[in-house]
Amino acid sequence: MIWVKPKKHLGQHFLHDPNLAQKIAGSLVGTSGNVLEIGPGTGVLTQFLLENKNINLKAIEIDKESVAYLRIHFPELRDNLIEGDFLRTDLKEIFEQPFSIIGNFPYNISSQILFKVLENRHMIPEVVGMVQKEVAERIAAPPGSKTYGIMSVLLQAWYDIEYLFTVSENVFTPPPNVKSAVIRLKRNHQQSLNCNEVLFKTIVKTAFNQRRKKLRNALSSLIATGNSDGLPFMDNRAEQLSVEDFVLLTSCLQ
Ligand code: SAH
Repeated sequence: MIWVKPKKHLGQHFLHDPNLAQKIAGSLVGTSGNVLEIGPGTGVLTQFLLENKNINLKAIEIDKESVAYLRIHFPELRDNLIEGDFLRTDLKEIFEQPFSIIGNFPYNISSQILFKVLENRHMIPEVVGMVQKEVAERIAAPPGSKTYGIMSVLLQAWYDIEYLFTVSENVFTPPPNVKSAVIRLKRNHQQSLNCNEVLFKTIVKTAFNQRRKKLRNALSSLIATGNSDGLPFMDNRAEQLSVEDFVLLTSCLQ
């Protein structure tokens, strides 16, 4: 019997509660079609995904030992198990058609996973992921809250985000140092933002990099001196602006 030794540098915390695994697997609302699981590990989520015959499942796992384990325990996954690094894989080589993503994400790269989702948003209608509770709160935060930030605005521009439930550290082997949470992202109907999207990103990042300052000062590097007079929101701070406000500001600035 092969056993997978949890490796810290790969963010391996294996879920040992099957009820919870089933609940996470059941949190995908697009109930049919292509699904990619990131980091199946020893397959605790995978087993429930494979049971759903409406799902065409593929999984990508970086850890050789886990891949060897999965090949033995889930022979039916064999052709759809990719040994590789999600962050370095061209997603078009995995699925040619749109696909959903699910996973108990390795926490050391959860933000990078979400940024890759954003870059590939036209292909990814839905994501169900377990992340650190703190990251989940940040992503789902509404304007005006302390945790609302760059990730919240950039993701909320393209996805409707739900904080589904909090998960205790005790359901993992080994337990992580932080609490976890499961979130769901569903692609909204926005095809474009009605502004220069590159500038939008720059403005959001610059505004939050000095989040305590009024935008007049926080954005001074982007605005020619003295030219902020006619611009909206200059006396506000970044955390007070909704996605729509940032879009409006961008179109005024471009
Ligand atoms: N889904 C399993 C394991 C979660 S731990 C469970 O719920 O128990 C995170 C998993 O992601 C580990 O198996 C780890 O090896 C894998 N992983 C880490 N970095 C990865 C990467 N860049 N690409 C793909 N998988 C990765």
